[in-house]
Amino acid sequence: MPGEKILVIDDSREMRDLMVNYILRPNGYNTLMAENGADGLTLARQAAPDLIIADMKMPQMTGLELAQIVIREGLGIPVILVTAEGSEELAKLALRSGVADYLIKPFSEEELLGAVRRTLSAAQSRRETVRMQAELAAAHQTALQRLKELETLANIGREVTAVLDLDQVLSKVVEAAVNLTGAEEGSLLLQDETAHELTMRASKNFEDSFVRTFRLRSQDSLAGYVVRTGEAVLLDENSPQKIKTAYLVHSLVYVPLKVRERVIGVLGVDNRRAGRAFTRHDQRLLQALGDYAVIAIDNANLYARTERERAQLETILRETEDGVIVVDAQNHLILMNPTARTAFGVNSADIAGRDFAGVIRSQEVRELFQGKSRRTEVTLDDGRVFNAHLTPIADVGRAVVLQDITHLKKLDRIKSEFVTTVSHDLRSPLTAILGYVELLSRAGPINEQQAEFIRRVQYSVQSITSLITDLLDLGRIESGFDSQKEPTHLGLVVRYAVDGLRAQAENKHQTLTINVPENLPPVFANPPRMRQVLANLLDNAIKYTPDGGQVTVTARSDDGLILLTVTDSGMGIPPADQPYIFDKFYRASNSRQDFAGTGLGLSIVKSIVVNQHDGRIWVDSRPGEGTTFTVVLPQHDANGQAKPVPASAN
Ligand code: ADP
Repeated sequence: MPGEKILVIDDSREMRDLMVNYILRPNGYNTLMAENGADGLTLARQAAPDLIIADMKMPQMTGLELAQIVIREGLGIPVILVTAEGSEELAKLALRSGVADYLIKPFSEEELLGAVRRTLSAAQSRRETVRMQAELAAAHQTALQRLKELETLANIGREVTAVLDLDQVLSKVVEAAVNLTGAEEGSLLLQDETAHELTMRASKNFEDSFVRTFRLRSQDSLAGYVVRTGEAVLLDENSPQKIKTAYLVHSLVYVPLKVRERVIGVLGVDNRRAGRAFTRHDQRLLQALGDYAVIAIDNANLYARTERERAQLETILRETEDGVIVVDAQNHLILMNPTARTAFGVNSADIAGRDFAGVIRSQEVRELFQGKSRRTEVTLDDGRVFNAHLTPIADVGRAVVLQDITHLKKLDRIKSEFVTTVSHDLRSPLTAILGYVELLSRAGPINEQQAEFIRRVQYSVQSITSLITDLLDLGRIESGFDSQKEPTHLGLVVRYAVDGLRAQAENKHQTLTINVPENLPPVFANPPRMRQVLANLLDNAIKYTPDGGQVTVTARSDDGLILLTVTDSGMGIPPADQPYIFDKFYRASNSRQDFAGTGLGLSIVKSIVVNQHDGRIWVDSRPGEGTTFTVVLPQHDANGQAKPVPASAN
């Protein structure tokens, strides 16, 4: 392309003139001239022409020698040699040693211009190739650098999720920050609890003693500025530096570490010596690393909190006086606290994952976990008694909590013994009172008022007597007396019980209905106690049902169980009282005033049904509409086997 600079070196003035003034310039090239090799070389070095045309044969330095120097010095200027006719061989040699082209004298204008164009265009494409190669190499370098950055970030990401040691992760983050940005040193500063100072949590290339004693006031330091504003800072030597750092640096990048919009510290790299400045890209890299550090710190804090809570829970479970056993859905032990381990003589604490049945021998606890009941009493070999309660725990399994009730059992026994003794001892004087009161009328005339007083005394003594009878009964049942059982036909028992109370119902004009099938299978029970159950339930039904009401007794067999119900159309039991009516001495709020009673009848019924006969009892009642008591007992089959009554929350 014309306009390029061509240096013509020839000792022959005519030749220079011809080439420069008659051929090259008129064709639009800029030209320089030299008449010998040495001058030509100097000019070539200074003016950096695009092409040299040198005569082969010049005194002192030949064209070939000049060309060799140009090549050796890497000036990158192509050389065309002009040779005399007859030295073509030499010229070809020169070509092999790097000369761009040669012309043999005499040559035409076209030949010279042709050689010039060819050489310049070859040089141009060579330069283009070199430039492209350089660009390619630079792009490759950048790609490698990006790859390294991505790899480092990915590695740090993995460390953050895999390594629990926070110091280790933070050190890696700072190290990566220094490596990726080519900085001299790096640090990760965190705010202390008072938020007045920053301390160095991790560092690279800082003296240990410096790190240990490093304290930076948040208020007036550059890092403090980043914490306060939440903005990154990038400083190079030219940036006006108003905010102090703890040490002098030439260039630095600080990025904020943010946990849910709250800045907790700073990640920074710097150079103390003049040198490489940091870029926005470095800042972005640092921010990405900083975000990883934040995740690691956040994770570590969460982990520490969970760990603290877990330890707290463990201490509570360890120190509690209640035994706690937790199993998963497959009945594998998850936890057994020391109280539970001591109670069941389990020496090893390492029981997690084992089947509970292989570890705990207690039949009662096994039955709890097997779902046979929700609550039971466990008597240990050493005589201690535990109240064991099963609780399902969503997504975990089931837990049994064991409460030591030995002292309560003892108190209960003492109380029962006391009540039995006192009740027994009271009977004789009461019988005497009743006897003498009856004799009063025989001892002489009694007026109307005295007769009324005698009736009241008799009524009160009878009340006390029935209370004592109930108490003694309860004592006997609870101590396991009268527990001999035999196959018992409930139809017969029902009839006897109803016969005993028919007069009472007739007095109140109530309809008493029995609904018991002839072929009802027998239950395995104690007949007098069964009769007592029915008598108590019927007595209540008649008592708490107004004149003209209905009382019905039904019995039926269902899937190996006998269901007995006593239904009345009476006043019902308020829902708030229902959970307590089986407790000793409890009387519902709507009955206390107007009806005589001890509050012991249903306790006796429950004791007989549940404790003596492994049955269940519950009440359904609507105030103002009526009440149904349902008793479930195991049916007795020919083999003497009885199907257990399923557990319920009652
Ligand atoms: P009581 O001697 O008071 O009848 P119970 O133990 O037999 O004692 O009954 C406890 C309480 O349950 C009674 O005081 C009464 O409030 C209530 N109750 C029992 N049966 C019935 C019933 N059929 N209808 C209404 N209330 C009843």
